[in-house]
Amino acid sequence: MREQGEQGEQGEAASGVSLERGAKFQSVDLTSVDRMGDARSPLLLRMEALWQSTLHWQPDERQQTQLQQLYAFTLAGNRQFNLTRITEPEEFWEKHLWDSLRGVRRFLEAGGRLRRERSVERGQKAEGAEEAGEADKTQNSSYSSLLSPLSSLKIIDIGTGAGFPGLPVAIAQPNWSITLLDATRKKITFIDQVLIQLGLANATTLVERVEQVGQQKHQRETYDLALIRAVAAAPVCAEYALPLLKIGGSAVLYRGQWTDAETAALESAIAALGGKIDAIEAFTTPLTQGDRHCIYVKKIAPTPNEFPRAIGIPAQKPLGS
Ligand code: SAM
Repeated sequence: MREQGEQGEQGEAASGVSLERGAKFQSVDLTSVDRMGDARSPLLLRMEALWQSTLHWQPDERQQTQLQQLYAFTLAGNRQFNLTRITEPEEFWEKHLWDSLRGVRRFLEAGGRLRRERSVERGQKAEGAEEAGEADKTQNSSYSSLLSPLSSLKIIDIGTGAGFPGLPVAIAQPNWSITLLDATRKKITFIDQVLIQLGLANATTLVERVEQVGQQKHQRETYDLALIRAVAAAPVCAEYALPLLKIGGSAVLYRGQWTDAETAALESAIAALGGKIDAIEAFTTPLTQGDRHCIYVKKIAPTPNEFPRAIGIPAQKPLGS
């Protein structure tokens, strides 16, 4: 794995090979997986203090159980499908669960603030949030006022792979509605089983190339948030994500290292797509201090119809280069 996500798995989709439509694929049976006690799926640490100090959020009992089950199912699916190299419990917690949710922290926080204000209005004691323990540096940190977890946000996770960041987000925010998109059928087949086993009714899946989805009338400009981790270079991710967003919506680009040159290339690409960089957050992961950046791109104008370009073109000829 590269520092951020598992770039090596871009495989079929990124290289322009067609979907496995009609191809034979094995279905995965997760019904017999021992969700909690399997010796091969050790217990995740609960990490209450770290969730609280870094995200100002903690899973409730049901969410904790779902995260544990997600871990057990990922290990089981991995034995069949080679979904991820991240299998140790601490690593899974940090690189898949925490990392997935860290990207949407600013939207979780907006809700926390709103909830606190509302409870103060009702004369109740406001919950005090602890200070974040992580090293965290935000440029242009204007938090979005349009997006509140109290409303039902429509989200797409582009190139979700084995379900990251989308599955942890669906678990953490049951009132958000999440589409998990990937061009690789076996990964979506796995996720479909996980959704059933976890009883996650707020997520659906789509097996398709994002270049095609972005040109579909019923998909284009319909999402509040687009999440994209370890799929392609940032200008390519922007071309995938911006056409799918409503005006005022945001794309979250999950990155590892990030340079000023990448900011310049991204700015030049998103100028053509109707976007602007809203914020760049630099931080380190809480267990192993890996470098991370989240780039928030806000859609401020309609994306011209020519984008996204035909399958494979965004990756072959990235905008702005
Ligand atoms: N987001 C996940 C994560 O961070 O663990 C998976 C990352 S994996 C390296 C990249 C995924 O993006 C692969 O599953 C691949 O099939 C998918 N992908 C790449 N290009 C795509 C495209 N144009 N349309 C749809 N899916 C794509």
